[in-house]
Parts: sequence; structure tokens; C-alpha cells
Amino acid sequence: MSYPFSEFNTHRMYSNFGVNSMKVVHTPNYAVVGKNPTDTFETKDKVSFTGKTKRNVLFATGGALAIGSVAFLLNRRMTLEKAQKIFQKTFMNNDITLEDTSKIIAEFKKISNLDDTTDYIKALFDSAKKHYGLNHLDIDLSIEYLDVGKFGAMDAGNTLHVSRTAKRKKIVEIIFHEFRHAKQNDIMANKDLDRYVKGILSRGTTDEVLEESVLYKTLMEKLAGKNGLSEEKLKEHVLVYLKDRMLLSSRAKFESMGFGSGNLPKIENLDEYTEKLFNAHSNYSDGNIFAYFFNFLEKDAREAASGICAVFRNLGKL
Ligand SMILES: [Zn+2]
Repeated sequence: MSYPFSEFNTHRMYSNFGVNSMKVVHTPNYAVVGKNPTDTFETKDKVSFTGKTKRNVLFATGGALAIGSVAFLLNRRMTLEKAQKIFQKTFMNNDITLEDTSKIIAEFKKISNLDDTTDYIKALFDSAKKHYGLNHLDIDLSIEYLDVGKFGAMDAGNTLHVSRTAKRKKIVEIIFHEFRHAKQNDIMANKDLDRYVKGILSRGTTDEVLEESVLYKTLMEKLAGKNGLSEEKLKEHVLVYLKDRMLLSSRAKFESMGFGSGNLPKIENLDEYTEKLFNAHSNYSDGNIFAYFFNFLEKDAREAASGICAVFRNLGKL
């Protein structure tokens, strides 16, 4: 089976994000390929301007860009206004002006021209983090040699793993996709951190799972027969205690990574959007490919990444 996004497996880690006591459902298989991998996969990335419009050449050579000039056209199909809409929508900031747009495009262009894949990934990472307005979050980057078909994922420790063996299109896609998830999480955390953490804890943290924990067993043993509580009542109390404890520790972990300290995005229908996030968040399915694929969080992240990919494509660089 092939999925449009190889994060299918690794992405599950993200859904367990921030919860110490949870298992990582899937461990990505990191394979180191080649002694000098740049020889094997970078050749294809070197983009020429053959067959592209002259306007692309303008982009390639022009440093400073002036608003109103035809040079602003990314190509025949994408205008600066279109790019602005994409940026406003993707980065969830209606304040992005045409001038900002041209700056972002110039930045993307510069990144596209980086020959070294490590530099390229680092620059995209910084760019995505900045434009999504997530500089307050503690997110690490790990550049790795993933198996063919695996492009990367954000793991439970808030590290973004990116494959340097992937094609550039996939690299752009995975970075802007995963950062969109980080943005979704940030919005929910800023809106209501407890509700956000509870949403995560409700997945997979059934009473049965908790009853298997060492702490549960220890507490049940220690408290048995005390305070005249029946076993049933004691069990109830211990479970409530464990859930509160998990909530507190998860909350603290999220806070330590910067969640809840950012600003809410400047978009229309923010409340409606946030509600959709929360719903999708609590219904997020680990086990079902369809539920996963059509979950709003995924749809939303795919759309975001494809918008950015379209911009890069129009720069003649994907
Ligand atoms: Zn995703």
C-alpha cells in the first residue's frame, strides 16, 4: 500500500505527543544510505530554467523586487496576489501584505538555490517556524537518512525528523505539513491548554491501560482497606488521581515546550476553526487509515503543504 504521505506510520508518534507515559507506537526505521549520499540524490535537485518562462529567470537573477512589476509574477499562472492568499491561509495571518509576500518569495527563492541538502532542510525549517509564528516553541530538527518512502515526522519529543534522502518536493511538503500540525496544536493550546491535553490523554488512556500501570498497582496495594473504602470506590479514586496527575505532568511538559504562550492567529472564523481542530483532535484515529486520512487535522495540514509546494513549484524549483 502506498500513502500520499509517508508520515502515516511515523505520524502516529505525533498523536501521542507530549505524553510521557505513553508508548511510541511506531519507531521510524533510520537507515544510513551511502557514504557520500549527496552524489546519489542531489543531482536531480539541481534545477535548470529550461522550459520555464523568462519571468523565472528574473527571479533567479533579481535581488530586490519591486511591487507592481511584472517580475512579481511567479509564472504565468501564479500572481503575487495568489501567493499572498496562500501565505495568509497557510500561515494563518491575514496581516501578510504584498510586500511581506514578496519578501517570503525572495526568501524561498534563496532557499531553493541552496545546493547542500542539509542547508536546504535547515533553512526550510527556520523559514516554516518563523512564518507559522512558532518561534516560541521548542522544536528540534533532526536530519536523517530515512528509508525510501519515509519523509519524516514530528516525534513525541517535539523533534522534527526529516529525511535528507527524500526529493525536495517531499522535503518541502513534510516540513510545512508538520509545522502546520504544530500550529494546530499551538492554537488549541493557546485557546484552552487543559482541553487540548485532555484530548490527547483521552486517546489510549483507558481505565484498563491505567490499571496496568505500576503506580496504579502500588496505590491500590498501599491504600487497600484504608479509610473504609470499598475496593470499587478506591479504584475510582485512584483512577481519578492518576488522570489528574497525567493531566498536570502533560500540561507542564507542553508548557515547557512553549505551548500556550503564543498568540492566536489573525484569521476570520477563528472560533469555528479552533472548534474543528478540537473535534478532529479528540477523534484522531491511530488505527484506521481512512479515519486518519480524512481527519480534519490531516486535511488541513495537507492543504497547507500543497499551497507552499505550489509556490516553490512556480519558482521553478520543485
Ligand atoms: Zn499529518
